[in-house]
Amino acid sequence: MNVVVCIKQVPDPNSPGQLDPSTHLLKRDGELVLDPGDEFGVEAGLQLVEKHGGQVTVVSMGPERGLDAVRKALAMGAAKGVLISDDSLRGSDALTTAKVLAAAIRKQDFDVVITATESTDGYTGVVPQMIAGLLDIPAVTFAKSVSVEGDKLTAQRQTETGIEVVEATLPVVLSVTAGVNEPRYPSLKGIMGAKQKPLDRPGPADLNLEDVGGASTGQRITAIDSAPERAAGEIIKDEGEAAKRIVDFLADKKVI
Ligand SMILES: Cc1cc2nc3c(=O)[nH]c(=O)nc-3n(C[C@H](O)[C@H](O)[C@H](O)COP(=O)(O)OP(=O)(O)OC[C@H]3O[C@@H](n4cnc5c(N)ncnc54)[C@H](O)[C@@H]3O)c2cc1C
Repeated sequence: MNVVVCIKQVPDPNSPGQLDPSTHLLKRDGELVLDPGDEFGVEAGLQLVEKHGGQVTVVSMGPERGLDAVRKALAMGAAKGVLISDDSLRGSDALTTAKVLAAAIRKQDFDVVITATESTDGYTGVVPQMIAGLLDIPAVTFAKSVSVEGDKLTAQRQTETGIEVVEATLPVVLSVTAGVNEPRYPSLKGIMGAKQKPLDRPGPADLNLEDVGGASTGQRITAIDSAPERAAGEIIKDEGEAAKRIVDFLADKKVI
């Protein structure tokens, strides 16, 4: 079984993100890490190939520094990396990103494409389903656990009302939730070996995607602003009427 895992490098979620006021893009000059959500995806891919054979390929689109995230996934155990990095793709929206990733995935031998449900920086949460649409294969989303038997993938999905069990015939796109597994740490041997593993660096032209990218993207951020400060709350002292005043307040806000 061959698995492609889509991974994104994101600003360290432990330091507050900032938007560049001129480009309206996220500032990426600080510490960057492999998206913690995608570590679950890499682990899920590795567990599938450990059980069924085959290999994991990681695919990422992003700035040149994204190489570090690809190397981390290779150190965890992925066999091959693909990084699409081109200035013309800067500012790409989710659909453009999905087109680029789908074009790169098409060039791989794959049975399952794994993503996280949403990234930790952009968190539009639509790229996985768009990739499935572009590849014309099923999307199994929000998986909490997954198993494969023959050409059938079975996943348990968390929903508001409980757990749904979903089956799909391979090939599929599978988005996994945080906590689906315990991502492994790269070993020293894995870190040393990662540098020798194959790494593809296709450009948009290699993927027949000359006319996608930032300039032609359908979605544009026209302005950014800080969220309004939270207004000070009202402290109600109990002088015999506090309960009534709280009830009136909640009724006024239409909470009750
Ligand atoms: C030069 C350059 C600069 C960029 N700058 C930014 C930036 O400032 N801010 C920003 O958010 N994005 C940036 N990107 C990446 C791209 O624009 C976003 O990935 C895209 O908009 C997807 O949005 P999302 O993260 O909300 O997707 P979501 O739908 O929330 O992502 C869900 C899952 O899809 C997969 N996925 C999403 N994006 C990628 C990706 N790029 N590569 C591999 N897998 C992916 C991951 O598994 C992810 O967990 C840049 C790309 C390039 C080439």
